[in-house]
Amino acid sequence: MAEAAGSGLPNGGESQRSRWKYLDNILNRRGPFTDPEWQPGEAVIEGLSRAKILGAGGLGCEILKNLALSGFKDIHVIDMDTIDVSNLNRQFLFRHADVGKYKAEVAAKFVEKRVKGVKITPYCGKIQDKDEDYYMQFAMIVCGLDSIEARRWINATLVGMVDDENPDSMKPLIDGGTEGFKGQARVIFPTMTSCIECQLDMHAPRAAVPLCTLATIPRQPQHCIEWAHIIAWEEERKEITLDTDDPEHITWLYQKALKRAQEFNIPGVTYSMTQGVVKNIIPAIASTNAIVAASCCNEAYKIATNTNPFLGFPETDNYMMYTGDESIYTYTFQHMKKPDCPVCGNLARPLQVNPNSTLHEFLESLAERPEAQLKKPTIRTEEKSLYYQFPPSLEEQTRPNLPKKLNELVSDGEEVAIDDPAFQVQFKYKLVFQK
Ligand SMILES: [Zn+2]
Repeated sequence: MAEAAGSGLPNGGESQRSRWKYLDNILNRRGPFTDPEWQPGEAVIEGLSRAKILGAGGLGCEILKNLALSGFKDIHVIDMDTIDVSNLNRQFLFRHADVGKYKAEVAAKFVEKRVKGVKITPYCGKIQDKDEDYYMQFAMIVCGLDSIEARRWINATLVGMVDDENPDSMKPLIDGGTEGFKGQARVIFPTMTSCIECQLDMHAPRAAVPLCTLATIPRQPQHCIEWAHIIAWEEERKEITLDTDDPEHITWLYQKALKRAQEFNIPGVTYSMTQGVVKNIIPAIASTNAIVAASCCNEAYKIATNTNPFLGFPETDNYMMYTGDESIYTYTFQHMKKPDCPVCGNLARPLQVNPNSTLHEFLESLAERPEAQLKKPTIRTEEKSLYYQFPPSLEEQTRPNLPKKLNELVSDGEEVAIDDPAFQVQFKYKLVFQK
């Protein structure tokens, strides 16, 4: 079987092709799960090698290696980071001599050298640097991003790109993420299946804590650390630039946080927690990354070749969660699309509000809501602008609304639109006054 597929590929001699013998076994014959319409053979192999695929983010090494070894030949990679010594324990494409160089470039070169015939095009920067034209060239996108903000951005961008007249404009998004021993792999068919924004309350990110909570009544040890980090340092050591790698600086923050925690009777502040909160460390475990990246790349392979059913299509399970922190548990389910999703839905979401709270308090509460997690919200009703963060002239003009009570600004049941430029997201809320 392998011989039959030996020609017709770039750089494909027989010895080259033998590398793909076992993969070809899947591509050259039917299996128990293949669709009756599906035709095995050359065309499928060609399709796989031509499918332009984009990988990005912290699971990058695993994703690149897996895609290259799965038969993808035109791979693009985006990553903004440079290599740090602390990456070397798990990001296996990097060596000590590479420290300081761009991850995307070093990884691309390494994989190209090891897997002949594969072309990897690196881009060193943020996914937000690129526009719709750029994303339009890919067959699909595999993301192992470590930031929620970047995930929400690419999700909103891909949903926005869908043009009903052009089936090619729908780019499957395969997303993987890990945190310690836990992780998830999911597939999104923008506008057709539940999107990342629909699922935002699924992962438990570190919710942004409003400044007023930090400044007045902390409730958790982390609040005390953030207080030391954001407020105390600014007040007492303004002239020194905080260096989160300097143990003296971390010790100072730790002692400040500990003292504040004791004042409020909050247990649990430790040195390592201080370090974790300040550096925003999400623990990365190499094996969890490998499991999740492998699941994502297998889905990419199945979507590109149609050899087997894959997550998310049509109308099936679209979300695999992996939980390894207490023994092992995996669960795959269908996350439903939300009709009031701010990215892929169009209905306003009812939201109970206290009519006597101020606009300022309401906007701050949006940072804490798990389905919103907004940073710089701008709010308006159908008729008027209530508060704009930008531009400065509009900010100044709308600022007097901040101390006003909600019932002075909106009527019971009125719809408001809330935007946050960081995520390209617009929330529609129907404000219902609590009685
Ligand atoms: Zn959605």
